Amino acid sequence: MSGAATFLGMPAFPIAAREALADSQLRRNLRHATGTIRTKRANVVEELDDWEPLRLAAAAVKDDVLADLPRYLEQLEESLTKAGATVHWARDAAEANQIVVAIARRHQVDEVVKVKSMATVEIELNAALEAAGISAWETDLAELIVQLGNDLPSHILVPAIHRNRSEVREIFLREMGKVGMPADADLTDEPAELAGAARRHLREKFLRAKVAVSGANFAVADTGTLVVVESEGNGRMCLTLPEVLISVIGIEKIVPTWSDLEVFLQILPRSSTGERMNPYTSTWTGVTPGDGPQEVHVVLLDNGRTKVLADEVGRQALRCIRCSACLNICPVYERTGGHAYGSVYPGPIGAILTPMLRGVGTDEATDALPYASSLCGACFVVCPVRIDIPEVLVHLRGEVVDAHRGGVPGALQAAMSGAAWTFGRGSRLGLAQRLAGLSGRVLGRRGVIGRMPAPMNRWTDARDAPAPPRESFRAWWSRTGGGRRGDSR
Ligand code: SF4
Repeated sequence: MSGAATFLGMPAFPIAAREALADSQLRRNLRHATGTIRTKRANVVEELDDWEPLRLAAAAVKDDVLADLPRYLEQLEESLTKAGATVHWARDAAEANQIVVAIARRHQVDEVVKVKSMATVEIELNAALEAAGISAWETDLAELIVQLGNDLPSHILVPAIHRNRSEVREIFLREMGKVGMPADADLTDEPAELAGAARRHLREKFLRAKVAVSGANFAVADTGTLVVVESEGNGRMCLTLPEVLISVIGIEKIVPTWSDLEVFLQILPRSSTGERMNPYTSTWTGVTPGDGPQEVHVVLLDNGRTKVLADEVGRQALRCIRCSACLNICPVYERTGGHAYGSVYPGPIGAILTPMLRGVGTDEATDALPYASSLCGACFVVCPVRIDIPEVLVHLRGEVVDAHRGGVPGALQAAMSGAAWTFGRGSRLGLAQRLAGLSGRVLGRRGVIGRMPAPMNRWTDARDAPAPPRESFRAWWSRTGGGRRGDSR
């Protein structure tokens, strides 16, 4: 399998969105959550005089990497290997899952702890581990809520954004005891109590696990350093306590040098959680004897990314740092939530990334995604790496249309090709105008213009189609010398 997974059995966006819109509780939860993050983000971005230069710098760094990706990947592999890590290359989800399962099996474990990672959700790693008899415990609070609730993530950063705290309490009371330490029977829906219950439940898993799985926000090519930024400290536990660490990272996560992190560590927390700085930034460079995991594996994942790179318009999507600012600002996402997109990556970035990773023309649900937008442009305004999402959406809509044309040009394409040929030379345009004037006189006299036969009536039913003038401007100009010779007609 290649490309981001879509949720099995989910209807295409137009149907799923209609169902989501009918759920008033969901809309309340989303309005409250996205509104809060939006305000926080706007306040901390406002503080910086150099926000736009930072955006430009971040986009430039990412573009530099994408323009020379093979060289940077080889440099990263060399740096990681020198630092004691083992590098694996995975063409697609199946290969990446096989690599992770094989490492876990070699260590004879029946469970792993996980740091929140979109790449591992994309490849459906948890299901692959489960099929191999290995339980994967999510340790991020929101991921834990989704996992315990047997639910699907609906936001990149806050996968359980569609749940309110009383729903979380019910899930904890009902499910925690089935897979580990239960929640106290008198648990309330106070956020501090819910966090305490999660902490106790997870702590025994952290202390027991021999193998951890993570992603990485950034991979520094010249030092071989991987970086995870997070808010809860669960990542720090996963990255330091177990004996073996496996990091699955998309090949676009590279930044060339350590100093490039300076830009990203300013824009990411501000754009994602609306904080000046994220509470935990963990960095690790291969293996350090006597400190942290003594066996480090890095799985470099393609899974459709080279296909995206080949798309001149769409490749800018590979700059994405998964901050989710575009989700929080999007009027469509705020009303439908993430499940309606039916894909691991919801919201505006999902509407472009999923079709490009999977390829358009494969299924109805994927092809619907580029249309899940009003093209208002708010996503581009907030994107810290300046991805012009509306531009890519329009480009993909064209690709979807082309994919369903079956090689036969549609009426619009035929008309546009004809117009291009006609406008390409003055003599052709003059002839066309003379013919139009002549036909206009005939059709106008017979009253055909304005009530065209099918299929042209699909145009004229809703629009006026005035009869062409008897004489074009060009013909009038050459006959009268631009009016100097008088108009005797
Ligand atoms: S597209 Fe831009 S705004 Fe959206 S998640 Fe990616 S980096 Fe953030």
